[in-house]
Amino acid sequence: MTATYTPRPAIWCAGCGHFGVQGALVQALRESGVPVERVIILAGIGCSGTIQNNLGTYGYHALHGRVLPTATGTALADPSLTVIAAGGDGDGYAIGAGHLVHTFRRNPAFTYLLMNNATYGLTKGQDSPTAPLVHPDRREQALDGILLGLAITTSTFLARGYSGRPEQLVRLIGAALDHARSGRGFAFLEVLSPCVTYQDTYPMWDAAVSDVDEVAGYDPGDRTAAFGACLRVMGEGRIPTGLIYRGGRPASLPDPAPARAVVEGRADEYRETLNAYRV
Ligand code: SF4
Ligand code: MG
Repeated sequence: MTATYTPRPAIWCAGCGHFGVQGALVQALRESGVPVERVIILAGIGCSGTIQNNLGTYGYHALHGRVLPTATGTALADPSLTVIAAGGDGDGYAIGAGHLVHTFRRNPAFTYLLMNNATYGLTKGQDSPTAPLVHPDRREQALDGILLGLAITTSTFLARGYSGRPEQLVRLIGAALDHARSGRGFAFLEVLSPCVTYQDTYPMWDAAVSDVDEVAGYDPGDRTAAFGACLRVMGEGRIPTGLIYRGGRPASLPDPAPARAVVEGRADEYRETLNAYRV
């Protein structure tokens, strides 16, 4: 891949929040010391999903809403890879929401960066499942991935960053990568990443973010307290950010992983399996 593919310049609008996410991801990967050929980024559909075109890692563009099962398979096949799924709120919270629920439930060891801009940017600004964040007067509620994850008690890492706070974002991505790479499980990091063209939420989110990392005595290992803190902050019309929850049981990994299985001497068995599918 590195020999045949040259990363392309981003196609995002000037000022798009995704530039901040990409910059923080590159910085966090550099700090992690993982060689570029040991990283694979699997992307969902939408403006955010083009992130994998811009980087020199391995990359894969999944079907709409299907980035999580694709990343799960990748992480199980070769747990030594640093697997990162990346996508938007339309991809992950609408068509892909069912997969998000089951990924929390299964806790596979990879990182998911969900860039939330409360709109469908690529298709010109329709309401996404998080649009009520921008229109709080509406009767619908925004889908909240952090509360959803907290409610599924096998989740192990839940955080929210903001592309307008790059230093914190680098720290959170680093912590997420570390969580997944050490085999503890699914690191879910939602990033508030404004779409400046159709829904410029920078002024609104600059004022709304409320960082649990700055709250004295906040314990990210306490799921019940995390739930209470998020509800309290949201009740004030603000958006909780920071490392919200980290804990729970480590991921279960296949032993051996399919990528390491010994296939030598099993060619006949393999051919027989393939032949069984011939018509
Ligand atoms: Fe970013 Fe919005 Fe432009 Fe898409 S349409 S690149 S989300 S600013
Ligand atoms: Mg979106």
